[in-house]
Amino acid sequence: MKIYNTLTRTKQDFVPINDGKVGIYVCGPTVYDYIHIGNARPMIVFDTLRRYLLYKGYDVNYVSNFTDVDDKIIKRANEEGVPSSEISERFIAEVKKDMKDLNVMEATTHPKATEEIPDMIEMIKVLIDKGHAYEVNGTVYFRTRSFKDYGKLSKKNIDDLEAGHRDEKHALKVSGEDEKEDFLDFVLWKPKKEGEPSWPSPWGEGRPGWHLECSVMSKKYIGDIIDIHAGGEDLIFPHHENEIAQSEAANDVEFARYWMHNGFLRIDGEKMSKSLGNFFTIREIGEKYPLQVIRFFILSAHYRSPLNFSDQLVESAKASLERILTAVNRLEEAAQNAKDAELTAEELKIKEGLSDFEKKFDDAMEDDLNTADAISAIFELVKYTNSNVSGDNSSDLVKASLDMVKKLCDILGIITEVKKEKLDDEIEALINERQQARKDKNFARADEIRDMLAAEGIVLEDTREGVKWKRV
Ligand code: AMP
Ligand code: ZN
Repeated sequence: MKIYNTLTRTKQDFVPINDGKVGIYVCGPTVYDYIHIGNARPMIVFDTLRRYLLYKGYDVNYVSNFTDVDDKIIKRANEEGVPSSEISERFIAEVKKDMKDLNVMEATTHPKATEEIPDMIEMIKVLIDKGHAYEVNGTVYFRTRSFKDYGKLSKKNIDDLEAGHRDEKHALKVSGEDEKEDFLDFVLWKPKKEGEPSWPSPWGEGRPGWHLECSVMSKKYIGDIIDIHAGGEDLIFPHHENEIAQSEAANDVEFARYWMHNGFLRIDGEKMSKSLGNFFTIREIGEKYPLQVIRFFILSAHYRSPLNFSDQLVESAKASLERILTAVNRLEEAAQNAKDAELTAEELKIKEGLSDFEKKFDDAMEDDLNTADAISAIFELVKYTNSNVSGDNSSDLVKASLDMVKKLCDILGIITEVKKEKLDDEIEALINERQQARKDKNFARADEIRDMLAAEGIVLEDTREGVKWKRV
């Protein structure tokens, strides 16, 4: 597979460090609110990378953190008058729900920053011992100029950066960071302020800097060298540049072999973001569309291209996805009617033709995860099966066609199983059975039926006119 590596600015053949194994680290969200569709882009894109590598037979160790200590979390906790852990726990649960609804697989490990403090302190100690970090009044800074490769990912020149910072002297004074040896130095450990969560350390009570978290968690759950490090392109500088500086200075080995960055999801040409207020949460969108439409919409563009969000574009993604799902449905019905007969010579040719589309799909995915072209290959396959395969064919051909469409959709995380809803008369029959069970004082059965219906989103209401039900 070829991967565009931000570090080299070229597409390179992907060669894992250990044969058959891939370690992937994806920077996760700061959990202070619901996530928006922009935040979902890296989740969906790199989940698809993971699914593709699994399909290729790799053993994938996928690590994605939750940043659960941060100014924004503390601010919200203070506004609500609750501990910051309550805010982070609440939104970790909400993010996990959104991920599930987007069919994003659970990470192999989802570390939380607050649970890894001892390892963070250890890495800071190593950096201080090696002369890459220093403490001033309870704050530990990374000595940026001590890392000679600083700027290699973002292609920034350290002297230009320094010049850009000159005017910030005043701002640094205000923030209390004028004690730094150099403008370029960044925080590894910051001292506690009143009302903030904190942990003991050799430099006093405090909390870690954001960049440090990822260096430590990737080392612990993957190793000193990771195969693929990923995130949105806004993380290239300073976050990923600083991660490289910390990890390579501490571990003396290359940090990550391949750096992958997704482009922005935009709205009216601007990056969708919390601070601009031009965002839609996954929760809001989920009320308008099945979330798999959003997954499909995001994968319909190449991950490095900017992607505009509009109702019109999502509607068009919805219609395209429906074409695929309708074809699956048609093949499923055809499979029930199909004959149990030997393949004719013509059917054999049609069956063999199926693999052309798998090859097209693979070629697209091999080329830097080109999901847009991979989806085109699925459309071509759907067109081919629509014209060549029906219930009049032998079941061998129909099943092979169905399996192929399903397999390719599955690699993209598109669910083709149609959840069969209970029909109205099945519900009525169950309600009648529940009424009878209650009359017979068989409350266990009555409760069981109520729970069974609730699990399908059907709520019962006892009224004077009898039991009413509704879907929620
Ligand atoms: P944050 O919680 O802001 O650190 O963002 C979590 C992830 O979402 C990071 O990988 C960001 O790069 C990514 N991200 C945030 N906004 C967008 C956007 N509009 N488009 C694509 N990715 C985004
Ligand atoms: Zn990170």
